[in-house]
Amino acid sequence: MVGFQGVAEELNIAVIGGGYAGMAAAVALAEQGIPVTVFESAQQLGGRARGVMYNDTHLDNGQHLLLGCYVQTLYLIEKVGGNIEQDFLRLPLQLDLHGEFSLKAPRLPAPLHLLVALLTAQGLTWSERLNAARFMLALRRMKFRLPEDMTVTGLLAQYGQGANLRIKLWEPLCIAALNTPIHKASAQVLLNVLRDALNQSRAHSDMLLPRINFTALFPLRASDYVELKGGHVRLACGARTLHPLDDGIEITTAQGTERFSHAICAVSPRVAGRLLRPIAELAETVAQIDSLEHQPIYTLYLQYPAHITLPHGMLGLHQRYSQWLFDKGCIADQHGLLAAVISAEGIHQELSQDELAQKVIAELREEFGIMEQPVWYKVIAEKRATFCCAPNLQRPSQLTALPRLLLAGDYTAGDYPATLEGAVISGLKCADVVSTYYYPVIA
Ligand SMILES: Cc1cc2nc3c(=O)[nH]c(=O)nc-3n(C[C@H](O)[C@H](O)[C@H](O)COP(=O)(O)OP(=O)(O)OC[C@H]3O[C@@H](n4cnc5c(N)ncnc54)[C@H](O)[C@@H]3O)c2cc1C
Repeated sequence: MVGFQGVAEELNIAVIGGGYAGMAAAVALAEQGIPVTVFESAQQLGGRARGVMYNDTHLDNGQHLLLGCYVQTLYLIEKVGGNIEQDFLRLPLQLDLHGEFSLKAPRLPAPLHLLVALLTAQGLTWSERLNAARFMLALRRMKFRLPEDMTVTGLLAQYGQGANLRIKLWEPLCIAALNTPIHKASAQVLLNVLRDALNQSRAHSDMLLPRINFTALFPLRASDYVELKGGHVRLACGARTLHPLDDGIEITTAQGTERFSHAICAVSPRVAGRLLRPIAELAETVAQIDSLEHQPIYTLYLQYPAHITLPHGMLGLHQRYSQWLFDKGCIADQHGLLAAVISAEGIHQELSQDELAQKVIAELREEFGIMEQPVWYKVIAEKRATFCCAPNLQRPSQLTALPRLLLAGDYTAGDYPATLEGAVISGLKCADVVSTYYYPVIA
């Protein structure tokens, strides 16, 4: 007979943080009937991927994009009631730097779709196209694994990817994927993303642009799912201290102290450092967290009159402040709403928000002839949007020196840079550790 043993009835898990990592863990635990309580300090779920209301308009704290290879995130969104084809505008892999460069994957099986896309890219010479295709084939032969990590700049130099290829193709790709400038970025982590996005099925390289806000997309639905399964989600209820015991862990919030069998700490690295610092056994983990550097992402939303559109739902600009532009009218029926995204550190940080907005408005005028002024604009500057994804980074494990305390979050150990998928995978790993430990299957 196959059955379960263990101490399921004694399990009672606290998840601290209701971002994508925490809610992924909570869903996976609730699904197995394991009692779970989510503590979220904010009034709403979602963390760094949350919906924001401004001037009666639904925005996100940053324009996010998913890739088809984010299989765990997409799976979980559907599990809690989402519908990927309705919730997203799905585009085949395409990179378009307005008037300068254009690459579009045809409907061919992978990796042929990518090779044809590289060999037909506009804005490169024939030898540059061949060079890029040879580089991809070499990476494929190496199974996207480097003997030693290095910067992306180093890798591109090693494979003879000249300035034009670097500026038009690899640099925008690296900044979009890792939110880290190429001279600081880990080549191995970039290859991990390329391996999963470009080297699997063609659908894995698709780009998915959300039609609904990021709180509604997953965390809110996940909260309903968790509560339906008997769990609890408490908003505006941040953990102030964690106190490990021999047989559990105490969590103190403004409402008092409660005892749990385990805690999954799924907050940002800065908050994790603060919560874990008083716990002597976790000094090594805290040192790893402290050593992480961060990179910003600025998103500028501009509400123009409804008839204003861009040539595509998403396109880039070459050597401009606006790296990527999104036409929310085309993506989510929010007509006239444009979003300009500026990832990673750069000279834009020296400008005030109004100065930055004026630069972007001027770029929209010069590139697309948009002469009208926006009705309003809103700059959202996330100064610590992601960790800086440097080579050979020692990221803290989900397991800590205390078996009853686990760590989830996009910054914890994993193949991926700071992404929704990285966050979700870390949450699932924590849920897996807790559940498999207590539910050994016996024959
Ligand atoms: C502007 C921007 C654009 C981005 N674009 C993309 C993109 O296009 N694609 C992509 O894949 N990724 C993108 N990312 C990265 C992605 O958003 C993050 O990797 C992901 O959201 C991190 O999730 P998390 O759960 O690890 O952490 P967080 O989202 O930081 O969640 C932590 C949660 O803990 C809560 N909290 C804090 N303190 C406490 C406390 N004391 N007690 C209880 N709760 C607490 C917070 O309020 C928050 O809800 C972007 C990030 C930003 C900022």
